[in-house]
Amino acid sequence: MWYKHLLGTMPDRDLAEMIGVNVIAVRNARCCRGIPCVRAGVWKRPPLDVRFWAKVDKSGDCWLWTASTDTRGYGKIGDNGRTLVATRVSWFLEHGEWPTLFVCHHCDNPRCVRPSHLFEGTARDNAQDCKRKGRHLTKEKGAGVWARGTRCSRAVMTEATVKEARDMRAAGATYIAIANHLGVSKRTAFDVTNRRTWAWCN
Ligand SMILES: [Zn+2]
Repeated sequence: MWYKHLLGTMPDRDLAEMIGVNVIAVRNARCCRGIPCVRAGVWKRPPLDVRFWAKVDKSGDCWLWTASTDTRGYGKIGDNGRTLVATRVSWFLEHGEWPTLFVCHHCDNPRCVRPSHLFEGTARDNAQDCKRKGRHLTKEKGAGVWARGTRCSRAVMTEATVKEARDMRAAGATYIAIANHLGVSKRTAFDVTNRRTWAWCN
């Protein structure tokens, strides 16, 4: 392999791009398939703070996590084989120690990792904060019903856009057209127009 001397000197993806081959070919050429390897060279995974802030969009008031999130919308970042919660990492990088309690948001935005928007609270504080913002389990219909609609922290639609999507579909628009118009995924457009989601909304 003519590029053997370059293996491990940079991330596989960058090397593949530079020499114009598939990243799989580069991985297969290494002794340790994609894992930074001491034998292969000098490239090391950048430290946690560098990798963390590279995934944050600081353009708005809230600094938004742009990488992967869990089902509740909280950011995730891998470190030494563990998966860490982005808000806790932000706290750690700001204060130099891990939070002992829950990390809560002043801004009520799960993706936000701006240190000044975070506060440390007990499970009780967190639950009360959640309740005050109307995002708790309600008992409006039977026991334990999740907050619905825009009260749901992961909602991408609003009652207005739901109506718009359904009206567009009724007028013959395709799911792709609806999705593009509203800036949501095709799946979301499909689910909402077929009442798989937002079924309660007229
Ligand atoms: Zn915020």
